[in-house]
Amino acid sequence: MNKAYNFSAGPAMLPADVMTKMQSELLEYGNSMASVMEISHRGLDFMEMSQRMEQDLRDLMDIPNNYKVLFMQGGASSQFSMVPINLLRGKSIANYVNTGQWSVKAIAEADRYCDVHICTDSHSNGYTDIADFDDWSIDDNGAYLHYTPNETIAGLEFDYVPEVDMPVAADMSSTILSRPCDVSKYGVIYAGAQKNIGPSGLTVVIIRDDLIGRVIKKQPVLFDYSTQANNNSMYNTPSTFPWYAAGLVFQWIKDSGGLTNMAKVNKEKSQQLYTKIDDSDFYSNPINPRYRSWMNVPFVLADGSLDKLFLEKSYNANLLALKGHKSVGGMRASIYNAMPLEGVKALIEFMSDFEKQYG
Ligand SMILES: *Cc1c(COP(=O)(O)O)cnc(C)c1O
Repeated sequence: MNKAYNFSAGPAMLPADVMTKMQSELLEYGNSMASVMEISHRGLDFMEMSQRMEQDLRDLMDIPNNYKVLFMQGGASSQFSMVPINLLRGKSIANYVNTGQWSVKAIAEADRYCDVHICTDSHSNGYTDIADFDDWSIDDNGAYLHYTPNETIAGLEFDYVPEVDMPVAADMSSTILSRPCDVSKYGVIYAGAQKNIGPSGLTVVIIRDDLIGRVIKKQPVLFDYSTQANNNSMYNTPSTFPWYAAGLVFQWIKDSGGLTNMAKVNKEKSQQLYTKIDDSDFYSNPINPRYRSWMNVPFVLADGSLDKLFLEKSYNANLLALKGHKSVGGMRASIYNAMPLEGVKALIEFMSDFEKQYG
């Protein structure tokens, strides 16, 4: 197989070491005489694996004891419903921050359950900037404040956690584990796995325990956080293979120096790429530099008629999945934890060559 760098926004690249390990133990997990895909989630082998996986995540993120870690299904999108269903707790208003298209989806879902108060709205600046926190309007009667720390499509990322007198709910799908995180500042953190954790099919939820157990009446049992909290996330059959894969990724991050080192490498990767973009008139990125994402780097070519050629040539150079989201156009390089610095350097070199030839 040719060595390629995969810039897919999600499902995204996984560390090669993790996949090699999966391959080596695919047919038999431990001494179980069966694949990890074929064994009971209630058996000793799987139970041990899942306990280790949870502990590794707790160690990595330094998750306080009064937080539950839930491993769920349904993707981040199902959390758009679960957050209001569980966190409204008798109130009728929730605060939402709109910094991009995932925020919009979360807002649309919350709107089914409560009055959504928009604290700040980046729609007017084309999702390229975030208004100063002092200028936000926050409804004190809101049950919670929801925001999207990293907007995956435009590449707009917070460099702080909004501090308010109510639980903060965060859709961390595309930035979880990319840098250290003070979990105690949040009421609930959730993330679909397929960006920075593992294959799709697993949703990680980290929730302060006092927020569990007061759902809106008459909701599906699986939409009540207490259902999974009281059953070690095994009320029903979990997505066993993604759990296993996530466990290997957590181990890989630990072995690679934890979140401090992830942050160091991610910062370096994104800075090199943004510097390349800013140093050229051929490429551009419109995001306020303070809020540029470390994980998703969209850029456009000055001459959009070259987009197709750029994609063809980059693909032939083994640089995959650089096509930007249709709403933004141009290119997007998603450079999650698994993307090594060499991959970003290869992209930068390709960009320079392409510019020399066609600029
Ligand atoms: C990818 C993504 C989602 C969607 O996740 P699903 O698991 O497909 O539901 C939601 N929010 C953000 C920020 C994302 O990056």
